[in-house]
Amino acid sequence: MSTIDDVVPDDAQPDPTDGDAFGPLPRGRINPRASIPFFLVHLVPLLAIFTGVSTTALVLLAVTFWGRMFFITGGYHRYFAHRTFRTGRVFQFILAFGGNTAVQKGPLWWAGHHRIHHRFTDTELDPHTPRKGFWWSHAGWILSDDTSPVPDGTMKDFEKFPELRFISRHDWIAPWSLALVCFLIGGWSGLVIGFFLSTVLLWHATFLINSLAHVFGSRRFETEDTSRNNALLAVLTMGEGWHNNHHKAPYVARQGLRWWEIDLTWYVLVALEKLHIVHDLKRPRSN
Ligand SMILES: [Zn+2]
Ligand SMILES: [Zn+2]
Repeated sequence: MSTIDDVVPDDAQPDPTDGDAFGPLPRGRINPRASIPFFLVHLVPLLAIFTGVSTTALVLLAVTFWGRMFFITGGYHRYFAHRTFRTGRVFQFILAFGGNTAVQKGPLWWAGHHRIHHRFTDTELDPHTPRKGFWWSHAGWILSDDTSPVPDGTMKDFEKFPELRFISRHDWIAPWSLALVCFLIGGWSGLVIGFFLSTVLLWHATFLINSLAHVFGSRRFETEDTSRNNALLAVLTMGEGWHNNHHKAPYVARQGLRWWEIDLTWYVLVALEKLHIVHDLKRPRSN
């Protein structure tokens, strides 16, 4: 199996002193046919005109939005992509399955591309730099054939677990299981609002970290990339909006570094540590 070192030319990292380093890059091409389901899912919430919006459906919306947001931020991102804490094999699987219900493909695909994003941020090799265009960084890159497989050699540490390979290969099982649960609890309204609307909102909240958090916000650290800190995004994504902090120190589990930098994912991880479900949370030096 090739590694990402094999496919990356030695001169891939831009020279930050080079005036050209932050100019626009050519974007890739989306696959229009394979993108149809993505756009159709956006239309499903309109069926609420016929199903109505029940209280149960609204509760499901809140639970599936925030619950899955944690699985993406605490699971797919801070665990699988960055290994900022340790846990047992059962909870590792729960993090993988929970993240998979967010309809953002399997953990190996998600974390593999994210590792490439950190390694080659804002270069030609970054799958979703806004230098290739805002909409490309937001959603276009996901709809491209170039990014459809798990990138070779990026996830060797987790590929050895057969259960992770299984759900990555069959990444429809978790989302449809959650859709069924929403239907059983809330009927058609539960499915349309509690699953589909929640999924669309969750997609765009997550995608904003790849797009807006590299365009709009403040920069505490002069990192060699375009990452920003954005309080609004941090609230919306349980702490991921402190993206400049994160690019400065991607190996720590905490992204809100000051007391006022709300980082809900971090608070949940600390609670899980107290319950002995996770351990060895990597803290920033000042913590
Ligand atoms: Zn980033
Ligand atoms: Zn990251």
